[in-house]
Amino acid sequence: MELVLPVSAPPAVPVRGSSALFPVRRIYCVGRNYADHAREMGGDPGREPPFFFGKPHDSVVPGGGDIPYPPRTSNLHYEVELVVALAKGGRDIPVAEALGCVFGYAVGIDLTRRDLQAGSKEKGQPWDMAKGFDQSAPVSPITPASAAGHPESGAIWLAVNGAEKQRGDLAQMTWRVPEVIAHLSTFVALAPGDLIFTGTPSGVGPIVRGDRVRCGIEGIGELEIVLV
Ligand code: MN
Repeated sequence: MELVLPVSAPPAVPVRGSSALFPVRRIYCVGRNYADHAREMGGDPGREPPFFFGKPHDSVVPGGGDIPYPPRTSNLHYEVELVVALAKGGRDIPVAEALGCVFGYAVGIDLTRRDLQAGSKEKGQPWDMAKGFDQSAPVSPITPASAAGHPESGAIWLAVNGAEKQRGDLAQMTWRVPEVIAHLSTFVALAPGDLIFTGTPSGVGPIVRGDRVRCGIEGIGELEIVLV
């Protein structure tokens, strides 16, 4: 097939214990999935069905590192999240079969232009420019489930310049990983290479140029970014 433009290779994330990379197809994110974060955002911490938004696949920043402070914001926020990497997909995946689709897990930061998001919410406009901007999805190397299993609990934390800002536990997730996968697969066909950000605990806040953000999840890994 002849194409009128060159096609770029898919972005790819390192895999712990392997020289092979995980190719990223799509990036999905869950809104409010920890009750205390739902409260701090002024929302209902109840068990309403999860809602989803997306980021472009090339917004991924494999392994973190230096990230330029994005344009059109004066209130960039961090959100540390467990990221699920899929090896298999499908539609209407039953909860009981969902973990069979998982390749592994990573630590991610759902970078958010909070001022744009607040403006969008107010006007009933889409979140895309608040959530899906360039380099908005730093992700640590992926730890395969074959090595670490499927975490149901464990500390999830984030620190800015050495000061802890977020600390929660995966057990606090309103919707667990298998439920998130099952719900999402009723809206779209999931496929190998998909990443799912599963929501953040409370303590989100602003970061500025020069800040060093370090975060981690017990048993999964750590990730560091520096805003430049
Ligand atoms: Mn988030």
